[in-house]
Amino acid sequence: MLLPEKKSIRIGIMGGTFDPIHNGHLVTAEEALVQFELDKVFFVPTGYPPHKEERKSLDPVERYLMTVIATASNPHFEVSKIEIDRKGLSFTVDTVREFRKNYGAEAEIFFITGADAILEIIAWKNADKLAEMCKFIAATRPGYCLKKFEELHVLPYENKEPEPGKPKIYMMEIPALAISSTDIRKRVSHKYPIRYLVPEGVANYVLKRGFYR
Ligand code: NAP
Repeated sequence: MLLPEKKSIRIGIMGGTFDPIHNGHLVTAEEALVQFELDKVFFVPTGYPPHKEERKSLDPVERYLMTVIATASNPHFEVSKIEIDRKGLSFTVDTVREFRKNYGAEAEIFFITGADAILEIIAWKNADKLAEMCKFIAATRPGYCLKKFEELHVLPYENKEPEPGKPKIYMMEIPALAISSTDIRKRVSHKYPIRYLVPEGVANYVLKRGFYR
């Protein structure tokens, strides 16, 4: 992999709706931490995502709390409320800009999320500004088809530098992403167990608050 030599602080921003957070997300963050030699991964639950009008997500504060519960024991993981405290829709460009302001021009920033979400982000209007501020790590489930990335000519960064002006995207296959938030919500609504798919504290919190029934 063409990972430049580490010269400064390297942080990961793990964006997601986390409705709910599950073990696939945690494995993704841990894998990115190790593979990309990150110093920290900040989980950033979305406030009101710009692309989600069809299904109303759980209250942002509840998704944030579940993310805190899930990550509490890992000293390299933090959770940021930045998108929840910001009024209006959650745009990734605003979030990365804020981290860039806090960590300075020298910091290397990797925005980590699901591959399909990255396709949406780079199709967005401020994508070129975002591409100047960070690199991307696209997490995929096994068997993920890269055709959509090929069509946009943004394909990976495995062996060659991307064309100038194109986003820098690393692909990372995560078998644990066989777990999905959609499936977990369905399981809860059918009264199937979610133990071992989400951290125990999250499973207990979902049950206690009666989410997704
Ligand atoms: P989504 O559309 O709900 O998810 C797309 C796919 O990616 C799903 O399979 C999802 O699985 C997976 N996924 C989501 N977050 C992941 C993560 N952190 N690690 C691994 N897989 C992940 O995506 P979303 O959660 O709403 O959005 C993801 C991020 O992209 C958020 O930070 C959002 O703000 C950002 N985004 C920004 C824009 C924009 O700025 N214009 C547009 C789109 C998305 P699960 O359902 O199991 O998580």
